Amino acid sequence: MAKVEKLAFHVPALEEVAGVLQKGLKENFADVQVSVVDCPDLTQEPFKFPAKGICGNPRIADVGGVPNLVPLVQKDKVYDLNTVAKEIQLPGAFFLGAGAVSSRIVGGNAELIPVVLAQSEGKAAVNESYVAKINPENGGCLLEKYKSKYKDCEFGLLANLYASEGLPGKVIEVRANRRTGEQNFITCIRKTLEKHYGDKSVGMGGTFVIQKGKAKIHIMPSEFSACPLNTDEDVNNWLKFFEMKAPLICQPVLVSQDPGFDLRVEHTHCFSHNGQGGHYHTDTTPEIVEYLGYFVPAEYLFRIDRPKETHMVGRD
Ligand SMILES: [Zn+2]
Repeated sequence: MAKVEKLAFHVPALEEVAGVLQKGLKENFADVQVSVVDCPDLTQEPFKFPAKGICGNPRIADVGGVPNLVPLVQKDKVYDLNTVAKEIQLPGAFFLGAGAVSSRIVGGNAELIPVVLAQSEGKAAVNESYVAKINPENGGCLLEKYKSKYKDCEFGLLANLYASEGLPGKVIEVRANRRTGEQNFITCIRKTLEKHYGDKSVGMGGTFVIQKGKAKIHIMPSEFSACPLNTDEDVNNWLKFFEMKAPLICQPVLVSQDPGFDLRVEHTHCFSHNGQGGHYHTDTTPEIVEYLGYFVPAEYLFRIDRPKETHMVGRD
């Protein structure tokens, strides 16, 4: 069993967080509207998730880490979402987030966009994840449903996961249109929380849609780098970058401040229904971009199999 560390987050009331975000996001977006609402039915378009909501025992798991990928890959680092569900004390958890595929299953490296209802007593897992890989035919993006080829719930190297019981309930709705600052949507939310709550770490996850505009997205190549990737520049030269069109459905996991667990403090993957997806960096159309998101503050952080040797390369 992997080593599992647990920490209780600071969990402010939804109304309080909404007020903090309303003020903070104004510094980075022209139009901002943050409120507490009932979670929309996420089984519907454009989400089509296998659970209605993102509420019920909300928690965040940071599994493995970038040091399993760079400077050189450690292919033996494989994990299973059904096991993670038990490790975070939430069997049957509904997972959303950002990770890497298990290369021994997929036959190469790729972005994993996990959308999984883990198995629970008598019920099989429901894996509605997407895989974004480089198309060997043309070097473009190839987005596939995981279940079209595979039946397991494995992943590899790293994942940042938001887990809940997948229930309806109250959530924080964030509408932010027309970006006026430099920060991307999630960095702006995270830094706003960090500024307000200081060393009281607040974790959040959920989903947001880039409704208008385009975004800068990367996909890892299918081949792991044979030579060590020692700097952010090395990593960026290895990654493949794309500009992808809205609507993009995104799965953010963020922690306002690392409480000393060697976390990736923000990580967002996205998918679409038109064949595009990957790792979100920012929008490339600030003058027309429109974001609509639903978030819940997590109660606990679980740090699973924290790499022994670490560094800060490749965490963007
Ligand atoms: Zn990623």
